[in-house]
Amino acid sequence: MAKTAIITGASRGIGRTVAKRLAKDGFAVVINYAGNAAAAEEAVAEIRAADGDAIAIKADVANPDDVKQLFAKTIEAFGRIDVVVNNAGIMPLSPISKGDVETFDKTIATNLRGTFLVMSQAAQHIAEGGRIIVFSSSVLAKSFPTYGPYIASKAGVEGLVPVLANELRGSNITVNAVAPGPTGTDLFLNGKSPEQIAQLSKLAPLERLGQPEDIANVVSFLAGPDGAWVNAQILRANGGFA
Ligand code: NDP
Repeated sequence: MAKTAIITGASRGIGRTVAKRLAKDGFAVVINYAGNAAAAEEAVAEIRAADGDAIAIKADVANPDDVKQLFAKTIEAFGRIDVVVNNAGIMPLSPISKGDVETFDKTIATNLRGTFLVMSQAAQHIAEGGRIIVFSSSVLAKSFPTYGPYIASKAGVEGLVPVLANELRGSNITVNAVAPGPTGTDLFLNGKSPEQIAQLSKLAPLERLGQPEDIANVVSFLAGPDGAWVNAQILRANGGFA
């Protein structure tokens, strides 16, 4: 039976590239998505065309029943879960002074509650020797104006990581977060001018925008044999954007 990986938010962006990389690494992969079925099916088709094994499962990570279904359907399809990557996330920007509580609640629900729910199911179902990988952001260190809800959600994610690692003592399951810097996806690019994109891309000493492949390489390391001794860490993959 092939090892299996669930990747949330894998219809687009970083998650899609992570799914393709883990499929190449030999995992049967579950492409989770929120609403974009066409993109998710396209990702499945790309993986199958490269002789990989993939299925798509719709689930809102903020919804406890959806998350339970995601794990139940994965076990039904593949019989086991070895790696869980909670990559799904949103980044609406709003200044704290505006007091936009809808934006705050939606961001916390998707990014923090979603991570909590996926971690919880992962802790219940993941096989011995498994890996749980969640997503923070290197923007935490920058405290940019308008990033309040997003930074609050990701700070919460970073808090959960070592707690779950401690709760899983003795199970040989690792829990880590990857915290990318600016990466060329819809989440980063949408709503920014070319000048803003150029300026943010130059902030890292490596002076370029991260690509989804840069982040997929790091997830592949944490999910694979060479990552076995890394536990309870926040791995900042950002070209030095710190
Ligand atoms: P994208 O906006 O490109 O893709 C987001 C993905 O998440 C889509 O597949 C989307 O599905 C899915 N998604 C959104 N909401 C939900 C939900 N409620 N339930 C399930 N899936 C959902 O984002 P990125 O690839 O850029 O971001 C991936 C992760 O990396 C996020 O956690 C983000 O915070 C983090 N990150 C990104 C950075 C960047 O610069 N890009 C920098 C630092 C961190 P659908 O297609 O169905 O809408």
